[in-house]
Amino acid sequence: MTRSYQIRTFGCQMNVHDSERLAGQLEDAGYVPAAEGEDADVVVLNTCAVRENADNKLYGNLGHLRPRKTGNPGMQIAVGGCLAQKDRGEIVRRAPWVDVVFGTHNIGSLPVLLERARHNREAQVEILESLETFPSTLPARRESAYSGWVSISVGCNNTCTFCIVPSLRGKERDRRPGEVLAEVEALVAEGVLEVTLLGQNVNSYGVEFGDRQAFGKLLRACGPVEGLERVRFTSPHPAAFTDDVIDAMAETPNVCHQLHMPLQSGSDRVLRQMRRSYRSSRFLSILDRVREAMPDAAITTDIIVGFPGETDEDFEQTLEVVRQARFASAFTFQYSKRPGTPAAEMEGQLPKEVVQERYDRLVALQDDISWQENRGLVGSTVELLVATGEGRKDSETRRMSGRARDGRLVHFTPEGSCVDGAVRPGDVVEATVTYAAPHHLVADGPLLSHRRTRAGDNAEAGLRPRTSGVSLGLPSFGEPPASAAAVSGGCSR
Ligand code: SF4
Repeated sequence: MTRSYQIRTFGCQMNVHDSERLAGQLEDAGYVPAAEGEDADVVVLNTCAVRENADNKLYGNLGHLRPRKTGNPGMQIAVGGCLAQKDRGEIVRRAPWVDVVFGTHNIGSLPVLLERARHNREAQVEILESLETFPSTLPARRESAYSGWVSISVGCNNTCTFCIVPSLRGKERDRRPGEVLAEVEALVAEGVLEVTLLGQNVNSYGVEFGDRQAFGKLLRACGPVEGLERVRFTSPHPAAFTDDVIDAMAETPNVCHQLHMPLQSGSDRVLRQMRRSYRSSRFLSILDRVREAMPDAAITTDIIVGFPGETDEDFEQTLEVVRQARFASAFTFQYSKRPGTPAAEMEGQLPKEVVQERYDRLVALQDDISWQENRGLVGSTVELLVATGEGRKDSETRRMSGRARDGRLVHFTPEGSCVDGAVRPGDVVEATVTYAAPHHLVADGPLLSHRRTRAGDNAEAGLRPRTSGVSLGLPSFGEPPASAAAVSGGCSR
């Protein structure tokens, strides 16, 4: 009998993309996605150890699943991701109704482990210490018809003291450029218009195969891919950010003028404590060079408030860098201990009230800057890739949402003399910005253009790209990428 599955994903884009791989493998093994509201035969929890309360979230979910499992012993529960890599056998000790625990290095083992657990009638815990298979060589069921993640590397060679990633994801492993490009081409062949190149530290890409400029070359190599309209990437590290990447961004028309580069702190003393090897002046000088080459670039960042030992003066330095940097927006985090990281053992952990007060001031400052920056866009024309279920879809105003080329969220009215049939997620429209809020823009006038796309057709038909993940060998930039068809399994339900 066909068994159904559901995947619950916590954490970062890396986990979201890993879940696409897990879905692809389960479907290859004969499982089908559970229908909305249906109890799945297999529930997979793809966990995160980076975010606060990760443990509570995992064990809360497992607690809710327990009665279902008791009522239906044939149901299976699998736990993977960073928290599984960290807690290993502890998970089945605390929740003995779990069937499978797998780690970040062996996501390819999930179907086999589920089968073995059913056959042997006992929990299977398999955690590897290093990567078994590069995840991108596994099949994937994509979430979006118009936008796709493409991993270029996994792991990280840095040792930021607040971060658990290096110990859970291991050393950086780089995928070869030909393989990355072939996956990009395969997605585009399925109608995808936008790809986001994904790595913990994208601009150190190439360190493993000895090409320091590999990331800039990779961006340029995405340029000629016909049908690829938008290329994004996340996240670069300021220490390894070089001018060739800025040049490649500016000179490759389909690379979006958007940069998300984590600052973390504006205090050089705190940056040293964090083991972040750049200083605030270097960070700001990169922004100057990016804006010189791309005056319309939207720059966003991550900032941690209340790192152990952070003084008022350190925090004031962060506020000053934020004032100078004029980020389009910032993800702001209150520092909290992550067990297993060096920072968790540091002296000078700050009281919650101090962290909260600083955090509120930082958010107020950044909101003000974001709003000023957004107001400067009122009256300008934006090209939007229409999105599914993002932000507000106001039933009264009948607005839809889309992302501008610079990544900004824009709510728009899908009307105008140019509108050819219904506007659908995956279509491309142009509109004039009529109103700005700190975290979004509104374009309420008639649309200036509407382009129906194959991504829109696929989204409307409920089709999502599927890549078979066949390994393509390791061609370099000099060789033509393998045929897209080699990795394409075709769009299917
Ligand atoms: S660069 Fe630092 S914060 Fe980012 S994944 Fe690596 S160790 Fe973690």
